[in-house]
Amino acid sequence: MPVAVGLAPEILAKYQPVIGLEVHVQLLTKTKAFCGCKNEYGGDPNTHTCPTCLGLPGALPVLNRQAVEYAVLAARAIGCEIRETSVFSRKNYFYPDSPKGYQISQFDKPIAENGSLLVTDAEGREKPIGITRLHMEEDAGKSLHDGFADSATRTYIDLNRCGTPLVEIVSEPDLRTADEVFEYLTKLKEILLYTGVSDCNMEEGSLRCDANVSVMLKGAAAYGTKAEVKNVNSFRYIRAAVEYEIERQIEVIESGGRVVQESRLWNSGEGRTYSMRSKEQAHDYRYFPEPDLPPLVVSEAWQRDILSAMPELPEARRARLVAQYSLSAQDAATLTTDRELGDKFEQAAKAAKSPRRVAAILLSEITARLRVGGLELGGSPVTLDGVVLAADLAEAGEISSKQLKQLLDTCFAEGQDFAHIYSRDKPQQISDTSAIEALIDAAIAANPAQVAQFKGGKRTVAAFFVGQVMKLSKGQANPAVLNELVVRKLDA
Ligand SMILES: [Zn+2]
Repeated sequence: MPVAVGLAPEILAKYQPVIGLEVHVQLLTKTKAFCGCKNEYGGDPNTHTCPTCLGLPGALPVLNRQAVEYAVLAARAIGCEIRETSVFSRKNYFYPDSPKGYQISQFDKPIAENGSLLVTDAEGREKPIGITRLHMEEDAGKSLHDGFADSATRTYIDLNRCGTPLVEIVSEPDLRTADEVFEYLTKLKEILLYTGVSDCNMEEGSLRCDANVSVMLKGAAAYGTKAEVKNVNSFRYIRAAVEYEIERQIEVIESGGRVVQESRLWNSGEGRTYSMRSKEQAHDYRYFPEPDLPPLVVSEAWQRDILSAMPELPEARRARLVAQYSLSAQDAATLTTDRELGDKFEQAAKAAKSPRRVAAILLSEITARLRVGGLELGGSPVTLDGVVLAADLAEAGEISSKQLKQLLDTCFAEGQDFAHIYSRDKPQQISDTSAIEALIDAAIAANPAQVAQFKGGKRTVAAFFVGQVMKLSKGQANPAVLNELVVRKLDA
């Protein structure tokens, strides 16, 4: 089997990779898609089940209203149009963890179509990636192949996941590089998290991604044969798997072979994909309309009602943070990657004197210390009030940036809030003007050459005297008072 390693750049440059993504997202509804069973990760095997999700004869599905509302919210957030009347279909196939023998899905009339997401291409330009459709369907159960004493000879089935509501989001084959794939997925996840329709937890399988990858000679009229890389459980691995798959296919073609249409699995330990099963050109799922569910009608009024819950989305928020708080584009981008971080920033920014200072403290100081401690934002010992206090003190020049860092270090080391540590360890500061004036006089007397420069018009020399007095005061002079007095004294 060929292992693709280090193809020459001029060979890679002959080919155009073409990538499309299918993303399955579990919705955070309280109950399953078509029955009243709890929709919850984990639980003892086969305890969240009933005749409907077990597929027992005669049990009828009833569509979960919240699942529809979440699907509409997710679809609009990625720019899709909502189809007023969509239809559920049966997708027929046998799999042990799907007891009905079919999956309820949507086929020719999905609930939403024609969306797009922007990514940045290799030349740094923004380009839209088309989203063909978003449709609703149900998840299957799980086959458990490991972890039992007799796992060598048996596979167990857990049907707790069976009937969990999903949306599948299918992109156009508009992606061209593994980096674009990574960015598309990152943005998609960010948007879905903002809407709150899913926790997008990849480890628990709430977000799963399959990538269809093919390569063709640049300028060729038709796409090459695609292979599907399935169920990779992190975006980093998907990027690696796509990169690997592109090189593998080029190598196959370059050595005179033919790419086979197949499903492949990523092995993160070895950094390569493996053939899982070959695929017929087209599956025959014998789709037909689900006879037990009426067509789904999302009226305009219902849609309006659902969309009233649409939050501000990351892209819009980024632009607003720049405009409203004069943040840099970079800071605004970082603050909006996580809705909670953005919320906290805005709360603090409204209470503080300088929003930029708040952003700097949150992004450089707090997040860095959280990362070192392996903590989430909620685990920070420094509260938002603490961040506001720290920002105001730094802004007013009452603490230097070095003192700020020391105080925050102490907060994290002792697990205490900023106000507590500040009132206890408050850096000694001389604000008494006569004491500072005496120090300035000493500095002026000791540096006649610099005084002459200042008098000669070089006013930046004032900073030199500020530095001298700081040294004389062992860093304890109040910088705001000092700055003002130095200039006054030198001008006298
Ligand atoms: Zn059930």
